[in-house]
Amino acid sequence: MHNRIPRVSLGHFPTPIDHLPRLSRLLGGPQIYVKRDDLTGLAGGGNKTRKLEYLIADALEQGATTVLTTGAVQSNHARQTAAAAARFGLRCYLVLRSMAPEHTTGNLLLDRLLGARVRWAGDRNPFEVMQEIANEERVAGRKSYIIPYGGSNPIGASAYVDAMEEAVRQSLDAGIRFDVMVFPSSSGGTQAGMVVGARAANFQGRVLGISVDEQSEPMRQNVQELAELTRAYLGLRFELDPEDIEINDDYLGGGYAVMGAAEREAIQLVAREEGLLLDPVYTGRAMAGLIDLIRQGAFQRDQTVLFWHTGGTPALYAYAHDLLAR
Ligand SMILES: *Cc1c(COP(=O)(O)O)cnc(C)c1O
Repeated sequence: MHNRIPRVSLGHFPTPIDHLPRLSRLLGGPQIYVKRDDLTGLAGGGNKTRKLEYLIADALEQGATTVLTTGAVQSNHARQTAAAAARFGLRCYLVLRSMAPEHTTGNLLLDRLLGARVRWAGDRNPFEVMQEIANEERVAGRKSYIIPYGGSNPIGASAYVDAMEEAVRQSLDAGIRFDVMVFPSSSGGTQAGMVVGARAANFQGRVLGISVDEQSEPMRQNVQELAELTRAYLGLRFELDPEDIEINDDYLGGGYAVMGAAEREAIQLVAREEGLLLDPVYTGRAMAGLIDLIRQGAFQRDQTVLFWHTGGTPALYAYAHDLLAR
């Protein structure tokens, strides 16, 4: 759709949409479908694959030889960036927050396998550390490209404009009308892109982000700004309605990346009813939110929900202890 923006191929698209009939029946609410962005295919997959198709293209266009990014210890964005860099022969530095954990597992294990150079930020601002590495690289004659946290800038968010258009096309082809789309929201690029895409593709339903780590007010601001920048970047000429940015922050639980009973229940329920794996940090929490909303009667039985599986399952292994707790 946006041919003028450079893009490389990293994933398999369109990702499929699956129906979850057993979960839908068990909850007695709307029909639940899943958009399988966990199946993008890049070293474990996930929503960052779409963003990286544009971000890596931009890095290459600028002549970069090294890409840098930052995230949490179990960052899916870091893992997919490492894989994307490997595919294009780029050096990759990951500046991860805090300190090296005792066990190298989950995404961190994959970061290492994929050849990324990992630096621990400790108490330092990771952006400062990335600047420092970029300077070292420059001295060594290499050009760095810094990918923002979560890949969330207008370039990365553009990928979710496409993703929304992709899903709307699939829904038209299948003759299914989605009343609401639900997904985990964090650095905001996914939601910003989807909000712009919803307008671009004339999607009539709700676009509901479940916050995984922030109160809805600062987040709404962030998503609104990013959506506006993304709209302008793509040269789209409509006006965004602030009302279209819906964020629910009722499910923050114990805070970012802390697994509680709600996430555990959601992950186990979906695994046991549908044979579908969710992740401990994002989709487990967003599904816990969706399940709670359905139990509260927030949707009609004749409605249809599209839940976006944004990936993250490699992190399951890092949460073995919490997942098996009771
Ligand atoms: C990064 C991530 C998200 C959040 O996407 P944002 O664009 O940062 O809001 C959701 N789910 C998974 C699995 C992720 O890795």
